[in-house]
Amino acid sequence: MSSIVGPDEDRSRGKPPVPDNVQDAVRTLIEWAGDDPSREGLLDTPSRVARAWKEYCLGYEEDPARHLDRVFEEVGGYDEIVLLKDIPFQSHCEHHMAPIIGKAAIAYLPNNHVVGISKLARVLHGFARRLQIQERLTAEVAECIWEHLKPHAVAVVIEASHACMTARGVRTPGVQMVTSRMMGTFRDDERSRKEVLSLMGY
Ligand SMILES: [Zn+2]
Repeated sequence: MSSIVGPDEDRSRGKPPVPDNVQDAVRTLIEWAGDDPSREGLLDTPSRVARAWKEYCLGYEEDPARHLDRVFEEVGGYDEIVLLKDIPFQSHCEHHMAPIIGKAAIAYLPNNHVVGISKLARVLHGFARRLQIQERLTAEVAECIWEHLKPHAVAVVIEASHACMTARGVRTPGVQMVTSRMMGTFRDDERSRKEVLSLMGY
């Protein structure tokens, strides 16, 4: 018995094959970065990187709105804010393909029906698992909920750090970018907006 794993490691576990041109692209990038893609530690890296990117970008394979298909009408007259906060997420910036790591707060004011609370996080992940900019991610999540749930109001606040800024470029670790999108009464009514922001902790 040998515990050595080689280039066949992935195939033996029944994972789908990664096309040669995709692996070549990763090898080219390794070379460009200054390393030797044929050294032992990097032999399986091209296929691993390729599969990791499929996973980071799983959102392209779904329509996040589908998570809002199932609503509950029995809300017992509840017509106050529904808020899910501190939802951790990971995305990648479309300018550097570098990680965006952060948390989101998503709130809405129901209009006779609600969704299962975990669905709000699923909508977020559906849009986050793509190449993104934080501004668009924030808007897409808010608009998806607005359009499909037809609530009285939606608020999305996203706070994230961008590896393209913390690990390269100006190299400023700890810096957080905050974006928000308010719709309906959260946008039009100052008291309502203040209430949702304070529930979110802002
Ligand atoms: Zn970037």
